Amino acid sequence: MKKDILEKGAILQRDRETYAIAPHIPGGITDTATLRKICDVADRYGVKELKLTSAQRIALMGVKEDDLDAIWRDLQEKPGAAIGLCVRSVKICPGTTWCKRAVQDSVALGLKIDALYHAMELPNKMKMGISGCMLSCAEVTVKDIGVMGTPKGWRVYVGGNAGARPQLAELLTDGLATDDEVLALIDRIIGWYRNSGSELRLGKAIEQAGFERFRAEVLGG
Ligand code: SF4
Repeated sequence: MKKDILEKGAILQRDRETYAIAPHIPGGITDTATLRKICDVADRYGVKELKLTSAQRIALMGVKEDDLDAIWRDLQEKPGAAIGLCVRSVKICPGTTWCKRAVQDSVALGLKIDALYHAMELPNKMKMGISGCMLSCAEVTVKDIGVMGTPKGWRVYVGGNAGARPQLAELLTDGLATDDEVLALIDRIIGWYRNSGSELRLGKAIEQAGFERFRAEVLGG
């Protein structure tokens, strides 16, 4: 019986025969040349449908197993981490790059976070979101780690998820003034998670340890 093929980023589809694959497109930000390349490869291999995913990717649907290697070779892109126990996605809103409501540069910070953490192996899957203002278009309060821009800086939320047992994230800290402060905090959260001994999603791991203990350990006080 066929299964997902992790090393090829290939997710078995409902027909139990074909696969979906999705190149990594950090923040969902791309250009026309990349889009043309994806379309050309899709045409070359008879891919009939492309799906814009909730993780800001473009998935090629209904790919034949025999074509997977050739498609990745032609795409010359890394697979998006759509499966496995790792940082699956870093969702980024347009922020001050484009959005008139933005108060923080979510694209600059989000791309740094994506470069550091996308696909990093962890005890369980993890999703992140970075929003440039409190309207939260990157849905930061249902992410394992969510970063929200405010007029004073950045807020960091932890432990959210939008799965079968949805959980709103807890506010961990407010008013971080710089990207470096956010990156340092995320580094401590990831380190804490790796050493927690838990194989649950971050929110449940924090619940097990106790939120106040977690907060003291990652904020240092
Ligand atoms: S979260 Fe705010 S900055 Fe980001 S797209 Fe939405 S309104 Fe714009």
